[in-house]
Amino acid sequence: MKLDLTPILNRRVPVIDFDFTVDANEVPDAPDISEEITLDEPVRVCGRVCDNDGYMSLTATVSVDYSTVCDRCLAPLSESIEFEFSRIVTLNAALAGDDGIDEDDVLLVKEGGIDFDRDIIEELSLELPIYHLCEEDCPGLCSVCGKDLRGACTCKNEKEIDPRMETFKKLLENMNK
Ligand SMILES: [Zn+2]
Ligand SMILES: [Zn+2]
Repeated sequence: MKLDLTPILNRRVPVIDFDFTVDANEVPDAPDISEEITLDEPVRVCGRVCDNDGYMSLTATVSVDYSTVCDRCLAPLSESIEFEFSRIVTLNAALAGDDGIDEDDVLLVKEGGIDFDRDIIEELSLELPIYHLCEEDCPGLCSVCGKDLRGACTCKNEKEIDPRMETFKKLLENMNK
């Protein structure tokens, strides 16, 4: 989406608030988001551009709900992410090359506005966690049968019987003699 900054550029207002959504699938040349992650909705972007005498600063909160799977047991997970996005906004292309200012921190005004959808998706792709676990101590899947070690797998149960069960088993064996 293009955000019109002419009210600031014409010195009519010092601040412009914005609140919009970005559909990651509709952003041209958007960086790939991990295959394991599916965004459940368009990305919410809420923030403001402030005039600071000579340059403008943009700050925004970016958030989205997404679906993924546990890295160990492949259980489906519903997650959400929220992070802060900030940039210097300028008409001056040369500023981006100035000392101490990283080109990636600058948004250049074109035809009175800025379109930073791609920047949002790029930052999102960097902010999203690489690993997801359903619970911190998820035991994962059995390397023998491939089933969930928390229940469906029976290989482990045969190898490591609860000591109390062992006593009970012996008792049963003796009874059957
Ligand atoms: Zn898991
Ligand atoms: Zn197993």
